[in-house]
Amino acid sequence: MGSVRIAVVGGGIAGATAAYHLTEVHPDAEVLLLEAEPVLAHHTTGRSAAIFVENLATAPNRIMLRAGRGFLWDPPEGLADHPILTHRTVMHVATEAQMGSLEETYANGQAVTTPSEWLTPEEASVHFPPIRSELLAAAVLEPECADIDVGGLHQAYIRGMRRNGGTIATSRRVDAARPDGDGWRLDTTDGEIGADIVVNAAGSWGDLVAASAGVEPVGLQPNRRTAFMVNGPGVDTTGWAFTIDAESRWYTKDDGPQMLCSLVEETPFEPCDVKPDEADVALAIDRINEATTLGIRSVNSAWAGLRTFAPDRSLVIGPDPDRPAFVWCVGQGGCGIQTSAGAGRLLADLALGGEPSDVFDGADVSGLLPGRLRTHG
Ligand SMILES: Cc1cc2nc3c(=O)[nH]c(=O)nc-3n(C[C@H](O)[C@H](O)[C@H](O)COP(=O)(O)OP(=O)(O)OC[C@H]3O[C@@H](n4cnc5c(N)ncnc54)[C@H](O)[C@@H]3O)c2cc1C
Repeated sequence: MGSVRIAVVGGGIAGATAAYHLTEVHPDAEVLLLEAEPVLAHHTTGRSAAIFVENLATAPNRIMLRAGRGFLWDPPEGLADHPILTHRTVMHVATEAQMGSLEETYANGQAVTTPSEWLTPEEASVHFPPIRSELLAAAVLEPECADIDVGGLHQAYIRGMRRNGGTIATSRRVDAARPDGDGWRLDTTDGEIGADIVVNAAGSWGDLVAASAGVEPVGLQPNRRTAFMVNGPGVDTTGWAFTIDAESRWYTKDDGPQMLCSLVEETPFEPCDVKPDEADVALAIDRINEATTLGIRSVNSAWAGLRTFAPDRSLVIGPDPDRPAFVWCVGQGGCGIQTSAGAGRLLADLALGGEPSDVFDGADVSGLLPGRLRTHG
C-alpha cells in the first residue's frame, strides 16, 4: 500500500493496539494517534481490574482472547521490559441460593482454553482463605487466568508503534470529521488534519465521534463501575484467587499489601471523566464483609471507569459498511485490556479492505463487525 494516512482517534488501550498493529501490518502507512487528554490512558484504560479471564467474555470476544493470548504471554522482542501476564486463578463462589448462576458459569467455562473445575467450600477456602466457607454451597475455579500489567501493555503498543514510525499528538481532540474525496478532513483542537482513514478508538465517546463524522452510531452504552483499594490482611497472599460472587455482586483480589475490591455494578452513564459513588463503595464493603473475614473498615483510594458496550456486548471492529474509510474499534466493555492484542490485529487486517490473518485460525469474525449492528438492509 502507498502512503496511506491513518488517524487513530483515542489513546487508550484500543487506540494504542490499533496504532501498533496498523504500523506492523501496513509498514508504508503513516499512522497518527490523536488523544484529547494531555496524557494517554487517562480514562477507562487506567482504571481496570487488570485481569485476563476468558469465561466472562462473549463468544466473539473469546476469538480475540485466543488470537491475542500468545502476544500477551510472549510479546514481540523489545516491546516490554517485564512480563505482561502473571498467572492467577479466578474463583466464582456461590451460596445455596446462587447455585443456578454458578452452574451457568461452570457450563460457560467448559468452552474456554482450560475448562473450569468444581470446588467444595473447603477447597474454595484454600484458594481464598478469607472466604466464609460455611456460607458457601460450592465454587468454580478457572485455573488459567492472569493478572495483566496494563501500564506495561499499553506502553508496549506505544513503544512498538513509535519504533515503526507512528506518531502521537496529545491534547488533540477531534471535534469533527468531514468527508474529503475518499478520505477525511479532521477539525481538531489544534488545527485541521487530512487523513485517508479514520480509526474510531474513542471508548465511551465512540458514537459521538461517529456522529461528528456523519457516520451512523452503533448504539454504544457506557456503564460506570467503581473499584477501590483497602488494606490487605497482612499475611502472604501468594496464590490467592481473584474471587467473585456467582451473581457478580462483589469481587476482590490481592494487589501487593492491598486488596482491590468492586461492587461489579453497571450504572448507565453519559461519556465523561466519571467519579466513584460513595454509596456503591459502602455497599460493596457490606457485601464483602458479609462473605469474607477481611473486616474492611476504611478505603485507601477509590475510582470509577466507564465500561462501554455495544447492544450485544461484543467488540465492534472493522470498516463501517456505509463508509469504509471510517474504521470502528469500540465496544471493549469489561474486557478491552485482555482482548486488545487480538482486536488490534483484526482491526489492522481489515482496515484497508483485507481479510483476517492466520492468527484467527479461520474463526468466524462476523459477530465482531460493525455491520451486524445496522438496522437497515
Ligand atoms: C473497574 C473496571 C474494571 C475493569 N477490569 C478489566 C479487566 O480486568 N480486564 C479487562 O480486559 N478490562 C477491564 N476493564 C475494561 C477496560 O478497562 C476497557 O475495556 C478498556 O480500557 C477500554 O479501552 P478504550 O481504549 O476503548 O477506552 P479509553 O481508555 O477510555 O480510551 C478512549 C480514549 O479516547 C479519547 N477520546 C475520546 N474522544 C476523543 C476525541 N474526540 N478526540 C481524541 N481523543 C478522544 C479519550 O480521551 C480516551 O483517552 C475494566 C474497566 C473498569 C472500569
